[in-house]
Amino acid sequence: MPELPEVETCVRYLSSQITNDSIIHQYAFRKDLRFPIPEVLLNSDKPLVLTSVQRRHKYLVFQTSSSDMDFVIHLGMSGVLRLVPTDEISRKKHDHYQIDFKSGRSLILNDPRRFGAVLLLSQLKPNSAPCALNELTPANLQALCSQSNQPIKSLLLNQQKISGLGNIYVCEALYLAQISPHQHACALKYPQIRALVFAIKLVLKKALLYGGTSIRDFKSPDQSLGYFQHHLWVYNQEGKTCRRARCSQEIKRHIQANRSTFFCASCQKPAP
Ligand SMILES: [Zn+2]
Repeated sequence: MPELPEVETCVRYLSSQITNDSIIHQYAFRKDLRFPIPEVLLNSDKPLVLTSVQRRHKYLVFQTSSSDMDFVIHLGMSGVLRLVPTDEISRKKHDHYQIDFKSGRSLILNDPRRFGAVLLLSQLKPNSAPCALNELTPANLQALCSQSNQPIKSLLLNQQKISGLGNIYVCEALYLAQISPHQHACALKYPQIRALVFAIKLVLKKALLYGGTSIRDFKSPDQSLGYFQHHLWVYNQEGKTCRRARCSQEIKRHIQANRSTFFCASCQKPAP
C-alpha cells in the first residue's frame, strides 16, 4: 500500500513535471473507484492550468486556475500513477483515469483493487490529525499517548490520530526507538516519546531519499521503483539476526490487530 513517503515521492516528481501545464481533458475508463469520479471533472471544457501539486496527508492535491475544479487523488491499496507521452500510451488493464496535458503528456491512474479515489478538493473531509512527517512533535505525541489505552503500534497506525504512518514505517520506527510494539502507549515515558518521534521522522526521510518502498507494486510516475525495501531493519526480516550491535536475537513476526508486526524481542522489551 502506498504510504506517506511513496505519496510524497509522487508529489515531488509530478510537481517538477506538470506545474503550470494546462489540462486539456480528463477521462474515466471506469468511474466506480472507491467513490465515483465527479462528473464535473470529466465534462469540463474550461481551460485549466495546473498551478501546484502538493500532498495533504496521503492525498495528492492538484490545484488549478479555477479553485472549484481543484481535485485530489488517493492511491488506495494499489494505485500507481504514470506520466507518459500521450502518443506513446499503451493502455494497461486497470487503467481507470487519465488526464491529458497541453505539453503532450498524460497522467494515468492504474489501480487493480480500486480502493483509490479521484475527488474534488471540496469533497475532502477535514483531518486535523498531525502529519507524521511535518507536524508530529514529542508534545503532541505525548498528549495522544496519555489519552490512549491501546498498544503504541495501534495508536501510531490510527489515521484519525496521526496521519500518514503505515505498517512498514511504524515497525521500523519502533525498532529504531527500541520500543516494544506491544507497549501500552500511556506507559511510555517522555524520553521514549521523544526518541520515537525522532525515529519516525528519520525513517520517513530515509524512505523518501530512496524513492519510497516498492514491496509489491509501487512505482513513481516516472516508472522508477523505490529502494527503501533494501534498507529495512525489521519489516519482512523475520528470522534474520537483529542488526543492532551486541544483539544476536532473530527478528520475530507476530500478528497484532490483524497486521504483521516485526520486532526484536531483546532490543524492544516492553516495560515491566
Ligand atoms: Zn536486537
